[in-house]
Amino acid sequence: MSRLLENMNPQQQEGIRTVDGPVLLLAGAGSGKTRVVTHRIAYLIEERGVPADAILAVTFTNKAAKEMAERVDKILGHTTLAKPTLATFHSFCVRVLRRDIEALRVNGVGLTKSFAIYDEQDQQAVVKTALKRLGIDDKSLKPRVALGRISWAKNHMIDPQEYFLASANPMEEKIAHIFEIYRKELAKANALDFDDLLLETVRLLKSSSEVRERYNRRYRYVMIDEYQDTNRPQYELMKLLAGSEKNVCVVGDEDQSIYSWRGADIKNILDFEKDFPNGKTIRLEQNYRSTQVILEGASTVVAQNTQRKGKNLWTSREGGSLIGYYEAPDGENEALFIADRIQRYLREAGQQEDEPRCAVLYRTNSQSRLVEEALRRYQIQYHMVGGFSFYDRAEVKDLLSYLKLVQNPHDSIGLQRVVNSPTRGIGKTTMETLERMALSAGLSTWDAMARAIEDRLLPQRTLNALEGFRRLIEDARAMLGAEFAEKLTQDVGADAGGDVSFDASFDVSEFAASQDEDAPEVSEPAEGEGENFDTSFNFAFDFSPSEEISTIAAENARDSDQLHGIDSASFNPFAPVVLKESSPKNKTAGPSTALRSAQEDSPFASSGRERPAFRTPGGRATLPELIKFLNDRSGYIRALEDEGTPESFSRIENLKELANAAQDAEERGETLDEFLDHAALASDADQYSAEAKVTLMTLHAAKGLEFPLVFLAGMEEGLFPNARTMMDPSGMEEERRLCYVGMTRAMDTLVMTRARHRRRYGSDMPEASVASRFLEEVPSRLVEDLGSPPARPQFSGDYSGLYATPYPKANRFGRGDREEGERHWSYEDEDQSGGHGAAKPAAGQRAGGRSPA
Ligand code: ATP
Ligand code: MG
Repeated sequence: MSRLLENMNPQQQEGIRTVDGPVLLLAGAGSGKTRVVTHRIAYLIEERGVPADAILAVTFTNKAAKEMAERVDKILGHTTLAKPTLATFHSFCVRVLRRDIEALRVNGVGLTKSFAIYDEQDQQAVVKTALKRLGIDDKSLKPRVALGRISWAKNHMIDPQEYFLASANPMEEKIAHIFEIYRKELAKANALDFDDLLLETVRLLKSSSEVRERYNRRYRYVMIDEYQDTNRPQYELMKLLAGSEKNVCVVGDEDQSIYSWRGADIKNILDFEKDFPNGKTIRLEQNYRSTQVILEGASTVVAQNTQRKGKNLWTSREGGSLIGYYEAPDGENEALFIADRIQRYLREAGQQEDEPRCAVLYRTNSQSRLVEEALRRYQIQYHMVGGFSFYDRAEVKDLLSYLKLVQNPHDSIGLQRVVNSPTRGIGKTTMETLERMALSAGLSTWDAMARAIEDRLLPQRTLNALEGFRRLIEDARAMLGAEFAEKLTQDVGADAGGDVSFDASFDVSEFAASQDEDAPEVSEPAEGEGENFDTSFNFAFDFSPSEEISTIAAENARDSDQLHGIDSASFNPFAPVVLKESSPKNKTAGPSTALRSAQEDSPFASSGRERPAFRTPGGRATLPELIKFLNDRSGYIRALEDEGTPESFSRIENLKELANAAQDAEERGETLDEFLDHAALASDADQYSAEAKVTLMTLHAAKGLEFPLVFLAGMEEGLFPNARTMMDPSGMEEERRLCYVGMTRAMDTLVMTRARHRRRYGSDMPEASVASRFLEEVPSRLVEDLGSPPARPQFSGDYSGLYATPYPKANRFGRGDREEGERHWSYEDEDQSGGHGAAKPAAGQRAGGRSPA
């Protein structure tokens, strides 16, 4: 028997060995599904002689993908030269689109490979533009709500027209209009949002048989983990990738489907059986992760759901410590209780050989604050997943926006973000004018700006400022070589149209005539918007590119021309940009396109080597050099230095950190595209670090992970289950599945807590809460009450020092050290009282020997 099948139960073995044809592996939490996937990959390579790069495995987070890669390397005991592609749906799609999206262009119109990826902030900015254009107040229709509907429609593959036809009320009709504008604006900006990444890949593979067949030839074995959370576009993508060989294996658990709000559809499991009638369905029934107590508790809760097939799950890890339950008087006390428990756990576990790891899971991100404060008070280091990510910081987003503009100047949202950051005298009124021009002429903001400059359509001072900004971006592009300078003239998304129906009255020439260059700029700061003309100009207006840049640019142009046989004399990277309006241009394939199409027939330039790398023999600027240039020339750093506050210095530090990230990327040989893609795809769950001993995260982010000790905090009606789902039976079932996911993350010990009073929405008085129904659904014989201190006399006012009595320093406690009324604070009591059920088994004597993974 293959060593890869050893230590696997017969069903797992079957899952690993059945590599030809479709396989549906459905099984409960902790039954080794992910383990089957990793072993299957190794098996294909080692036993079936399949080239590693013919294997594609898709998981839910980058972290999971990376972990899978490490596990496969470990199982094989060596690193193979060729690598399987282990990706998330989104990262996979980005790679496909960066290579092949231009196959979707019709008559030179459509997105280009340098498309920008819009995150939620960018998306909201677009929706706000649409609301404004339609004259809808953003209080009567919240941008977030509109965006949610748009995303929902996209994930169900519904386009604006269909949405409009199906809309049942005026609000829905409005959303259909917003959706339409949103779509056009993104097209004009050469940008895609996260949903588009999937949709466009599906559209690409459907429409181009050449591209599809290339991927089918490459990926002969496809696997998908967490299949229960795929949405419709992901399902379509899976089908397209399965090709004619249909060697596709999907792995999931319907009881863990927790992303229906993102369009995940249980129907995908049923349809799999229909679309792949010859498929084999395999079920796993042994759980290797959790103790009997935990498994039984979790299974009883999820059994309350009606929309499920039902399954048997058993574990050989009999017994185990009871599920702890702690009822705190309020949220602060709950957090301190958790911190105290963690401290004791870490101390005890320090004496055992296993690395201690634990997690605090909660329903919503905002719950982390109290737990964080408590952990800090106990001086326990922790790692928080989600929350405010590095890439969300304003200064980091600004610099990334500069980089995105260098990559794709048509990115209108990015342009709006940084055009006056730092202040360089380009105010709101100017931008609104440019937006109107862009709208009426069907141009991107960048092109409208160029047009305003060429045709001198704005007051001189404004033009100077715009010209300075344009130079900055162009010079940065010139640092990257000729092909970047050349791309500027492409017609991007020219089909986007001008939305004239919403603004037919605007005429550029009229506007130009109405402007008197020398007249005082009445139109500028009139509404008190603070045009803020900064006469000191942090930003150096340097119209002739510095000598250094000119040299780099000229050299680049030459190198690249020599490469592609172009006469460099006729090519001037600083020549004014020629703008054509929306008429599609018959653009001949540029030198870079020619180079790329000559590349080998592999769907991905593996690790991006064949794509134009940042550092070429010709000495193009490196990524860190580019960042330094932008930081300096934009005046961004100088403005922060001038500000001179501790806050501004910490912003400078963050920019340095980003430069470090760029240095790392440079060393990995990444291109600008790849660097930006990584930043865009760095999602919450990716911040999870397996080394951290204490992890804080939402229940959603905990999917697929396991920890010896798990806390589920905030088990209260309205919080968990979430208030929004209370009236909706299927929403409630999803909350229950989320509870099942949370409980089954625990290997040895599970503790559930709640606060009897909780401060909500910043209210003065904490409100009384009701215990979560999920708590009641856990059989009481499996639960151990960890005590519940009496309510404090009053809640308002000063909280400081409130815990001084019970929690001055947790290690101060000792027997006899407390007063009568504090009995419930005792931990010694609980450990030693036999009446509270089985004590936690020490390491090495865990029931049901677990072989090492
Ligand atoms: P989830 O539904 O939470 O994603 P899963 O089904 O993917 O869970 P895994 O994470 O693959 O489960 O496995 C759970 C734990 O059980 C892991 O620690 C894994 O190493 C272990 N395990 C799985 N199969 C076996 C086995 N045959 N022998 C020993 N340990 C196993
Ligand atoms: Mg798994």
